[in-house]
Amino acid sequence: MMPAVRSIDETQRLTVDQALRRELIEAVAHTVIEHADELTALDQAVGDGDHGINMKRGFEAVLAELDSCASKSWPEALKSIGLTLVMKVGGASGPLYGTLFMTLGKELPEAFSVAELAMALDRAISAVMARGKSAAGEKTMLDVLVPAQNALASGQDVRSMANKSAQATVPMRATRGRASFLGERSIGCMDPGARSSALMISAVADVVERRI
Ligand code: ADP
Ligand code: MG
Repeated sequence: MMPAVRSIDETQRLTVDQALRRELIEAVAHTVIEHADELTALDQAVGDGDHGINMKRGFEAVLAELDSCASKSWPEALKSIGLTLVMKVGGASGPLYGTLFMTLGKELPEAFSVAELAMALDRAISAVMARGKSAAGEKTMLDVLVPAQNALASGQDVRSMANKSAQATVPMRATRGRASFLGERSIGCMDPGARSSALMISAVADVVERRI
């Protein structure tokens, strides 16, 4: 994301037009759906094997509402994606990703600077933490979301930070969520939610790089 974003003047505000809204929603949904088997396999190792199935169901529902969603302003579209995820994904990740998207929609102005995007994302991540009673370092999606937000705020490459951070969950021991039941045995596998977060961030970065 950053090579594109870095070229934008600090005071310049971005708006997400309807074509870009469609592209972003489709890219994120398709990457999640295409990687459902991989996410499920990761969750089979440290959880109950439903993360891919949960996320695929949620993003198929998002795609089913693509036309109405993309016709809304970007903040409103984010809120409605969040609501769909809460209703359709289930598991622990549904309410958490739902909170992430809904809060992002609530916090993001229609026209935003990169700094405002980073701030809105920070607030959305805080809402996820409050909802999950969790923090970074517990081998969850937060171990990708937090460093990715830091990268965005400090002008680093968001996509490579997200991917590197997902990889860095492999040697971690889970202390939150279902994987924490495994204790030491949670070490050695990538966290499924960390992977799904990295996939979504990569998809956004790909679209933004092509378009800006
Ligand atoms: P469940 O664990 O209920 O089966 P999923 O399999 O869909 O739900 O999602 C599991 C993922 O959710 C984990 O890999 C982790 O990243 C994330 N997760 C679980 N609990 C929490 C929490 N309290 N805070 C943040 N993320 C969490
Ligand atoms: Mg699961």
